[in-house]
This record gives sequence, structure tokens and C-alpha cells, in this order.
Amino acid sequence: MHTKVGIGKDSHRFDFNDNTKKLRLGGIVFENQPALSGNSDADVVLHALTNAISGITCENILGPRADQLCLDQGITDSSVYLKEAFKYLRTSTISHVSISIECKFPKITPMIPTMRQSLSSLLNIPPTSIGITATTGEELTPFGQGLGIECICIVTTQ
Ligand SMILES: [Zn+2]
Repeated sequence: MHTKVGIGKDSHRFDFNDNTKKLRLGGIVFENQPALSGNSDADVVLHALTNAISGITCENILGPRADQLCLDQGITDSSVYLKEAFKYLRTSTISHVSISIECKFPKITPMIPTMRQSLSSLLNIPPTSIGITATTGEELTPFGQGLGIECICIVTTQ
């Protein structure tokens, strides 16, 4: 089996007016933080991860297919989109996931162990195969300036 590498990227704006929706990153709820806007739960980490897997399988899930799950079937849980992308890996296995998050808030670093655990459960790979880093990028971009969150993800499969 060949080694393959996929890259995925996503970003969402904060919706500072939505007081009911929770901020979710990597399947983890961040309490007392503004939620991200989007029809789904707007989990930007799971979306970047889903796109990275699509980068390997060439089966795009985010876009029309996720919209169908979300708008037609009412599925807003982004882990469902991830699992949909995961199906197309077939016999390939994920050997590593590298995630980079850019935002001003929330503070990502204290939540990294919990997020790694969450992604480990979703992907059925050990937390040691999931690296997560975070930066504010010196506030040079809208993400570092607090308007939203951007995530880039690289997945390696064998
Ligand atoms: Zn998204």
C-alpha cells in the first residue's frame, strides 16, 4: 500500500449574536466562548480533517454532500461528515494527523490533550498519532484578530 498525504483547510466566522450554539472544536465543546457561524455545528477542526481525508480519497464530502446531510436530513454533527469521508479510505489506514489552528481565542493549548483524545476516538488511532498546534499568528490575519478560526490539517495514510 502506498503512502498518501492529504491536506484540508477550513475557516468559520464567529457568530457573536448566537447565545445558544456552543463552540465545538475537534468534537469538544468549549464553554463560554462565541460559537462559529454555519448551518452545521461549524466544527472547523473536523471540517479541515474531513477535507484532508477527501484530499486522499478524491471523494469530496463538504459542499453539496454535507449540505444534503445538514439541510435535508438535519444532521449538524460534523463527526457524521467525517465518518462519511472516512468510509472512502476503504483499506487504507491513517498513520498520522497533523493539525494547525489559528485564532485569537479560545485558548487552544490547554484543550489539546482533550482534543487529541476526542479525535483518537473518532478516527480509531492512538493520540500519539495526532499532533495539534495553535497560534495567534501575531494577529496578522482575521483569525488572529478574533473574527473567526482557521484550521489546516494534514493526514497521512498507508
Ligand atoms: Zn466548515
